[in-house]
Amino acid sequence: MQIYNTLTRKKEPFVPVTPGKVGMYACGITTYDLCHIGHGRSAVVFDVLARYLRSLGLEVTFVRNFTDVDDKIINRAIKEGAEGKAIAERCADISRTYIAAFHEDMDLLGVQRADIEPKATEHIEEMIALCQTLIGQGHAYATPSGDVYFKVRSFEPYGKLSGRSLDEMQAGARVAPGEEKQDPMDFALWKGAKPGEPSWPSPWGQGRPGWHIECSAMTEKHLSLPLDIHGGGQDLVFPHHENELAQTEAATQKGFARYWVHNGFVQINAEKMSKSLGNFTTLRDIYKTHLPEVLRFFLLARHYRSPIDFTPEAMEDAEKNCKRMYETLQALQAELAKPEPKGGTAPKELEEEAASLMRQWDEAMADDLNTAAALGYMNSMGHLINRVLDDKGLRKNAGARHVLAHMAQAFAKASVVLGLFSQQPTAFLQALRSIKAARLNLDIAKVETLMQERLEARTSKDFARSDAIRDALAELGVAVRDTPEGALWDIA
Ligand SMILES: [Zn+2]
Repeated sequence: MQIYNTLTRKKEPFVPVTPGKVGMYACGITTYDLCHIGHGRSAVVFDVLARYLRSLGLEVTFVRNFTDVDDKIINRAIKEGAEGKAIAERCADISRTYIAAFHEDMDLLGVQRADIEPKATEHIEEMIALCQTLIGQGHAYATPSGDVYFKVRSFEPYGKLSGRSLDEMQAGARVAPGEEKQDPMDFALWKGAKPGEPSWPSPWGQGRPGWHIECSAMTEKHLSLPLDIHGGGQDLVFPHHENELAQTEAATQKGFARYWVHNGFVQINAEKMSKSLGNFTTLRDIYKTHLPEVLRFFLLARHYRSPIDFTPEAMEDAEKNCKRMYETLQALQAELAKPEPKGGTAPKELEEEAASLMRQWDEAMADDLNTAAALGYMNSMGHLINRVLDDKGLRKNAGARHVLAHMAQAFAKASVVLGLFSQQPTAFLQALRSIKAARLNLDIAKVETLMQERLEARTSKDFARSDAIRDALAELGVAVRDTPEGALWDIA
């Protein structure tokens, strides 16, 4: 497999440090709010990467943390009215709530749990030890008020991940009121705590960790260095990952991670998503009007490094694609359940086209996890399956049946890697119909009653009445299809 490495700014062949094994770490959420679509994208990308590496036979250990001590959590606790000693307790409640919400939302999105999901608050000891090591080496210093800062200029390669020069970083660096930094570029490893805030005893007094130090402590504890893959959203490259790298490499004198993998941003209707613009779209909001699997399809239908624009049109498109795919799978399953035809060999072109699509799928995934292209080949596989199903001659051909069975297998394998199209087609299609009905405020009971009345009209050969009912259904946005198994309805 080739993978783009942010550190070297090029695609490189993926070679694990220990043959057959992969250690992978992705930065998780800060537990103070519901997950938005940007969190969803990052989770889906690293979920597919782990699934794909496993499908290659590699033994993957995937670690994703929860940042459960942070200014944002403390601010929320205070905003919710917590004071003094109650702040720390309220922070713990807030973290518990949003970790549970994360699991609920990501489970729906088909994101598998990471093998290890460490919390920052459970690694305070390791973080303090790391701070002490860095102080001992002259890479960090404690201030009189009990903060510990990393001395950026002591780590000569600082900036190598984000490709920023010292001048550039210097220009953006500030010393906030009350900070006792020796240099504006230095960043906090440990902060003296204000009364009531969550805090732990340390050699520098009661305090709490800065954000970056937790990932350095947790990677070292749960994986061996260098990591094979360190990942996260593109917004984490600077300063978070740059700082993690500096801490770990300075303290351990080992390389931190071999491959740095970052996914692109999510935009909402061509605008940057931000709290100030008020266009933060939570996963839960999206699930009210769209199936989570459709969202997952939308997220994987672009290359993970490209920016992605969340628009109603793009979601409609994703929904249509998923529906078509499941309809094809439904027809394919029905065909494969029939007795096998006897005799006949598959046309050579059919065999070749099927084999070529499967090969191209493999190649796309091996080329920097190109799920967009891979989904395109699955779409072509769907067309090919339908072509066989629509051809009476081929349906009686034992060789063509064999090709169909083979494609069904390949499709299932690809589906597991992408975490898509693994439901029973009827279950998906019914869920889709329900959510579309909800979007239209459609009364399903009323539709069922009209369908029943139409059936009665047809049985008594009252076609004028049956047609009138069909028109009434069309008014509601419902399309009726008569099949050998009876009349079916769907949202037009
Ligand atoms: Zn991190």
